Amino acid sequence: METKTKKLKIDLLNWYKKNKRDFSWRKTTDPWQILLIETLSQQTQLERANEYFDKFIKEFPSPKSMANSSLKIILKMWSGLGYNNRAKRLYEASKIIKKKGFDQIYPNFDALPGVGPYTKNAILSFGYGEKVLAIDTNIQRIIQRYFGLNDTKDFFKENSKYFLQNVDSRDINQAFMDFGSSICKSSNPTCSVCPIESCCNKYFSDSKSSKEKFKGSNREVRGKIVKLLVNKGHVNNLKLFEEIDEDYEKVNKALEGLKKDNLIKIKKNNIIEINSN
Ligand code: SF4
Repeated sequence: METKTKKLKIDLLNWYKKNKRDFSWRKTTDPWQILLIETLSQQTQLERANEYFDKFIKEFPSPKSMANSSLKIILKMWSGLGYNNRAKRLYEASKIIKKKGFDQIYPNFDALPGVGPYTKNAILSFGYGEKVLAIDTNIQRIIQRYFGLNDTKDFFKENSKYFLQNVDSRDINQAFMDFGSSICKSSNPTCSVCPIESCCNKYFSDSKSSKEKFKGSNREVRGKIVKLLVNKGHVNNLKLFEEIDEDYEKVNKALEGLKKDNLIKIKKNNIIEINSN
């Protein structure tokens, strides 16, 4: 496993040298910019997240500028990205960072709302140059396929050190990211042009496209409701059910979820609006 892991690292870094994508935030070590792009790109393609990043960093160049804004303004800018909880958590995180600063929170960034092990390690690697792997779905998928594994937990425990030896962790993390989104994609990986094809076990798992999964999903209905409330300010219960063209049960479930996540509030007179608190 050690030899194959080291070979994968060398092959990936060689591929990355010639194929890396150029984004403004890849040149920064500012943890705020890294937190922002990592939050925007969760469940979103990097190119699309990058368009939002440009808008967000212009409006909110620091955690303080976001903390001093409102959830309604942030959700309006977030419109079209979905998973609105991410926006709310980012807003909450900005308030904490405004008070403490990143350096006081370091290295426990996973104490911030919305920051899990992946984003924590992305901030540590890209912002602080720490020797850590940021393990997201891209890297997991590549490892699963390349080594023919169902579960990658033990693999990373035993082999992360080989990926990180004698390299800048930023390069290996970004190499996995770019390789996973352009060659070893979740659906239709381009194995015919893959530079590591000769050693790959080609283990495939998920065959259902993400578009199919999204249609009519709770996530889609939640997105429709938030968009409506951001555009209209507030609506009454009946109007909302009329405007959201989905089954009653689905809309009700989405409303309950949004209320539970404190993204919306339902007043006594059944008026629904974004919860700006
Ligand atoms: S050969 Fe196919 S499955 Fe294997 S790493 Fe390359 S693109 Fe992924």
